Amino acid sequence: MSTVSSRAPAALDAGTQPLTTLKGVGPALAVSLGKLGLERVQDLWFHLPLRYEDRTRLVPLAELKVGDRVQVEGVIEAIDRGFRYRPQLKVALGDDSHVTLLLRFFHFRRAQVEQMAVGSRLRCYGEVRQGPTGLEMVHPQYERISGPGTPLDGTLTPIYPTTDGLGQKRLGSVIDKALAQLPGDDVLELLPPALRAPLGLGSLREALLTVHRPPAGADLQRLARNQHPAQQRLAFEELLTQHLTLRRLRERVRRYRAPPLVGDGRLRQRFLADLPFTPTGAQSRVAEEVAADLHHDHPMLRLVQGDVGSGKTVVAALAALNAVESGFQIALMAPTELLAEQHLRNFRDWFEPLGLEVVWLAGKVQGRARKAALEAVAGGAPVVVGTHALMQEGVMFARLGLVIVDEQHRFGVHQRLALRDKGRQAGEVPHQLVLTATPIPRTLAMSAYADLDVSSIDELPPGRTPVQTVVVSNARRGEVVERIRAACLEGRQAYWVCTLIEESEQLEAQAAEVAHAELQAALPELAVALVHGRMKAAEKQAAMDAFKAGEIAVLVATTVIEVGVDVPNASLMIIENAERLGLSQLHQLRGRVGRGAVASSCVLLYRPPLSQMARERLQVMRDTGDGFRIAEKDLELRGPGEVLGTRQTGQMSFRVADLARDAHLMPAVQEVGEVLLAEHEALAERLVRRWVGGAARYADA
Ligand code: ADP
Ligand code: MG
Repeated sequence: MSTVSSRAPAALDAGTQPLTTLKGVGPALAVSLGKLGLERVQDLWFHLPLRYEDRTRLVPLAELKVGDRVQVEGVIEAIDRGFRYRPQLKVALGDDSHVTLLLRFFHFRRAQVEQMAVGSRLRCYGEVRQGPTGLEMVHPQYERISGPGTPLDGTLTPIYPTTDGLGQKRLGSVIDKALAQLPGDDVLELLPPALRAPLGLGSLREALLTVHRPPAGADLQRLARNQHPAQQRLAFEELLTQHLTLRRLRERVRRYRAPPLVGDGRLRQRFLADLPFTPTGAQSRVAEEVAADLHHDHPMLRLVQGDVGSGKTVVAALAALNAVESGFQIALMAPTELLAEQHLRNFRDWFEPLGLEVVWLAGKVQGRARKAALEAVAGGAPVVVGTHALMQEGVMFARLGLVIVDEQHRFGVHQRLALRDKGRQAGEVPHQLVLTATPIPRTLAMSAYADLDVSSIDELPPGRTPVQTVVVSNARRGEVVERIRAACLEGRQAYWVCTLIEESEQLEAQAAEVAHAELQAALPELAVALVHGRMKAAEKQAAMDAFKAGEIAVLVATTVIEVGVDVPNASLMIIENAERLGLSQLHQLRGRVGRGAVASSCVLLYRPPLSQMARERLQVMRDTGDGFRIAEKDLELRGPGEVLGTRQTGQMSFRVADLARDAHLMPAVQEVGEVLLAEHEALAERLVRRWVGGAARYADA
C-alpha cells in the first residue's frame, strides 16, 4: 500500500484516523465497533442503516392501519393486569379521536407497571396489529412524556446493523460524531461532476448525510426499498468500486507476460478427425476466440459460459491441445472429484491415442502414486487433471502454459488466482480459461466477472429433446414409482436424485441409502443402484458404468450426479425435495436427461406446504428449459449469492448495492469505470481504498 502519493495528504487521509480519536470512544467501545469491521472514522461514514423508524411525526389513532410501524401518542384510559393464561399487562391508550389502541405486554417488571397510571401520557412506537377487540401494539417501545407538544425527532431514526452489547443509541451517537467530521465535497467527492451530472447523481456528502439522517418527510417507502436517490448514489459508487477492483486486478494480470501459444494445429486436427461428431457452430466460434487470445503474449482471462450439455469440454480440449502443440503443459481443475474424474476419462480417451500422457492429481492420490504424479508434473507431462489438490504446496509444473478451471460456480476469484500463481515463472503467467455452466445474466457477469472476457456457447448439439417437467407433491410418491416401473419396463432408465438443504454429504448419503432401499423394495423386478459422494471412487465408477451400460434401470444418486454423468438412454429424472434447491442447480440436474432421442421427463417432488416463493420457482422450471431465463429468474427471486454460489458471494458482499435490484446501474458503472481507469487512475485507486478499505482483497493479486 505504498502507491499513495504524498501530495494531497488532507484529501487522502480524510477519515482514515482510528475510531479512538473520536471523543467518547475508548478501547472497550473500539473493540465492539471492531466486531462490526469498523476501525477508521470513514468506516462509520459507510456503516449504513438497515432500516428506518419514523419518529418525526405522530399518527392519530383514528388513522392507524394494520401492519403500519408508526409512532402514536395518547393518554392512558385503563390498565388491566391479567393472569389468565400467563402474566399480561394491557394498557388502553386514547387520543382526541376517541379511538382506543390497546398496548399489550407479556414481559414486564413491577416498576414498569407502577409507572403506568390512568391519565398519564405515553408516546409509543410499534407495529399496529389486529387484536381480538381492535387494534393493538404488542411490546411497543414507549416513553412517558410530560404533556402534549413535547418536541418530536427532526430526522428519521436509522437502525444500524450492530452487535451484542452495542445498542442503537450508543452506535448512533458514535456515528453522529463521525458524521460531524465529514469533510466538504471538495475533499470527500471522488467522482468528477462531469461524470456524475449526466447520470443525475448527487454528491457523496449529501448522499451520506441523507442516508444516515434522513430529514422528516423523506420518502420512507423508497428508503425502505433502498431506492432513494441518496442510496442509489451510494450503490453506484459501491458497484463502481467493485467493478474497478476487478478491472484493476485484470489490468495487473495483463501486465504480465504469457507464452504465446500458437501451435501448428497438428494435434487438433487429429483430435477433430477422431471425434464422433462435428463441433457446433458455437463451439467452433468460441474455440476460435480462445485460440486468438492464446496467440497473445499477455495472459488470456476468458470465461466460457454455456448451458449444461452445450459441449464446453470439447472447447477446453481444443485449447489444451493448442498449448501442448506449443510445447506447454496444461492443468485442468474441477471443483469436485467426480467432475474431475469425468474430465480425466474424457481427456484420456481423447488424448492418449494422440500419444499424450494425462496425469491425475486429486486429494485421494496419496503416497507413491502422488509422488509419481508430482514427478510427472515436474517433468513436463503435457496434461494434468485434478481437483483443488492441484493448487497445493509441492505441486510444481515444468512449463505451465494454460490453466483451465471448470468452475461450475464453485471456485472464487482467489482460487483462480492461486492456480495461476502456480505457473508464474520469470515474469510469465499461464493463460486462463474458466468454464461455467450456468448462464450468468449480463449485468451480473459485468460485475462478478469484470476481470474476465466472456464467450458464450449459445447453441446445443443437435438431437437434444426438450424435457417435460412436472411438479408433484410427495404425497403422490406412489404414482411416481409406478411411472418409473412403466418407463423402465419399456427399456428406459431413470435417475432418482436425493437432495438435502444442508450441505452435509453424510446426511445426503443417508437419505440416498433410504431411498435406495425403498425403491429396491417397491421395484423388485428392476435393478436399482446407488451412488453417493461417500462411496469409494471405484464403487461409484462401477455403479455409473453399469448404468451407462444399461445393466441398471434406476440410479439413486445424490447431487453428485449434478455434473459429469452422460447417459443418453436415461430419460426420466425424479428430484426429491426439489423446493430446496436453487434453480440453477435444478437446471444442471435436469440437464442429465433429454440427451437421447426419446422424449424425456423430469418430476420435481416437493414436500408440502410450498411457500409462495418455492411455488414460483418450481413453476419457472416447469415453464422453461432455457438456462438464461432460469438464471435471470433465480437472480430475481433469490439474489446473486444463489446464482453465483456461496464462494463467490464472500467477495461480493455489498453494503448498499444489490446486484439484482441495482442491475440497471451496471451499464453506467461500466462506462464511468472505463473513464476513471483511463483518465483518473488515482481517483480509482482512492475509491477502492475507501470502500474496500484495509481488506484490500486483491492487493496481492
Ligand atoms: P457441458 O457443456 O455440460 O460440459 P459436455 O462437454 O459434457 O457439456 O458435453 C455434453 C455431451 O455432448 C457429451 O456427451 C459430449 O460428447 C456431447 N457433445 C459435445 N459436443 C457435441 C456436438 N457438437 N455434437 C454432438 N454431441 C456433442
Ligand atoms: Mg461440463
